[in-house]
Amino acid sequence: MTEGVIVGRTRGGEEWVPEFVTELNASTCIGCGRCYKVCPRDVFELVERGEEVDDDDDFYDDDDEMMVMSIKDAMDCIGCKSCAAVCPKNCHTHEALAG
Ligand code: SF4
Ligand code: SF4
Repeated sequence: MTEGVIVGRTRGGEEWVPEFVTELNASTCIGCGRCYKVCPRDVFELVERGEEVDDDDDFYDDDDEMMVMSIKDAMDCIGCKSCAAVCPKNCHTHEALAG
């Protein structure tokens, strides 16, 4: 079942399969910062929404100060899924991955 994917071990020696963050849905993110605060690594950064959503609609110009979370360094993720546990909008996608 765990063949080919990165596995970890508990202190008791049991294998577990980390699921690494692969995507963050900027269209549902409310920029609350929960995932940034809980992440033990340096994976996320807050950016201005305009940097994430390329929208020509002028109505969105009023929101130009709204911040949205972005994945800065996916390679630093340890697959703990803490971000998914705290996100109120289910923005993150995680996958078990091969090493
Ligand atoms: S799975 Fe864990 S290490 Fe990876 S981005 Fe989420 S909180 Fe950070
Ligand atoms: S926890 Fe979810 S809604 Fe909050 S900043 Fe992170 S991705 Fe966005």
